[in-house]
Amino acid sequence: MSVTPAAVRGMNDVLPADIAAWQLLERTTRELFAAYGFQEMRVPVVEHTQLFKRAIGEYTDIVEKEMYTFSMGDGESLTLRPEATAGIVRAAITNGMLRGARLKLWTSGPMFRHEKPQKERYRQFYQMDVEALGFPGPDIDAEMIAMSARLWRQLGLTRVQLKLNSLGTPESRQAYRAVLVRYFEQHADVLDEDSRRRLTGNPLRILDSKNPAMQQMIAGAPLLTEHLDAESRAHFDGLCQMLTAMGIPFELDPRLVRGLDYYSRTVFEWVTDALGSQGAICSGGRYDGLITQLGGEATPAIGFAMGEERVVALIRQAQGEILAPAPDVYVVAVGEAAVREALVIAEQLREALPALRIEVNMGGGNFKAQFRRADRSGAALALVLGEDELARGVVALKPLRQEGAQSEAAIAELAARLPVVLKALEA
Ligand code: ATP
Ligand code: MG
Repeated sequence: MSVTPAAVRGMNDVLPADIAAWQLLERTTRELFAAYGFQEMRVPVVEHTQLFKRAIGEYTDIVEKEMYTFSMGDGESLTLRPEATAGIVRAAITNGMLRGARLKLWTSGPMFRHEKPQKERYRQFYQMDVEALGFPGPDIDAEMIAMSARLWRQLGLTRVQLKLNSLGTPESRQAYRAVLVRYFEQHADVLDEDSRRRLTGNPLRILDSKNPAMQQMIAGAPLLTEHLDAESRAHFDGLCQMLTAMGIPFELDPRLVRGLDYYSRTVFEWVTDALGSQGAICSGGRYDGLITQLGGEATPAIGFAMGEERVVALIRQAQGEILAPAPDVYVVAVGEAAVREALVIAEQLREALPALRIEVNMGGGNFKAQFRRADRSGAALALVLGEDELARGVVALKPLRQEGAQSEAAIAELAARLPVVLKALEA
């Protein structure tokens, strides 16, 4: 007895009925990123495990427990990418793209994290990822945030909010770290196991804990903002002024530390209250120290990543079901010779009218069955070819969605007639 195959837990199929919203999102972002001067690049889904450990940080949820890590038997440890920044930076280094250059890049594709699957939280999920390498900011910080704000506007999403914070430099964070450790040690009884481990490894991570039992204690912790160095303060003030000048509302959130270790200075997150507990739809920040840390030449950088599933869910909420475009014409052909001729005519029409969406009935059927399919296709017009039409060298044109007289066109004149007939049906 055979067993029905099952999908892997946390991994999703995107079905044809759902694809239009995805395509809308991907088309809109592709055009928008290009308009702001960002170039697409593509990097592998698999990298050396070490890359993610070094870039993301040992004391993070991702590296501690969420990575899909495997070995092909030669002892080399590989990992399915949990995020895109590390791979982009690795590629910029290995391809010699840095050398003082200024790069505005974007990429997209599936990411993998072994976390607890929930609605809008998956183990394979898609991100659109944008990175700017070689710009110290805050102008680029402001422009990238403006670009994401424009994306929400273009998609008709209004239930989104921007949260902003600065993490300062690693040096100022070091001073803050000492203050923070002292605070946490005073509240050691409330710390969970993860947090006790992080207390010595990376105490800042504790602020990002989602454990409800620790939230009150975390709320009372000293703020990083109070320990910001002067340069980071000026950078942050500059960013805030630029956003204000552009009319982009933001909320300062001194608790925003973000889940990855590599950030410095600007961090931001777009959140929504429309998706239950999965509120983060787009997050990013500056990572000025990462590239040297990975062995590249010192290059300031900033990036953000947007979760496509969550944004698609918002698009659906805002715009309703998005339908794939129906064909313009559906070709009905009955009889072997008519089917052959229909295939030829359809190819000629596609040649002459490349924008025309034309679906030829496949798999036979009598007139009644084919017209039923034609109706269901949503096409505006049926082209009908039976033995009679074939004998006279014509095609019948039958409007499908509105009352209208059936007409005929000579096969040779069809390419010229069709746009006129379709235009009249639109009116
Ligand atoms: P969260 O707080 O929801 O776990 P995160 O801080 O881990 O998010 P990032 O690593 O910054 O998220 O990734 C950027 C974006 O990718 C998030 O804002 C979110 O929209 C999306 N994302 C992250 N993890 C998942 C997931 N498991 N499933 C679907 N989307 C995700
Ligand atoms: Mg997460």
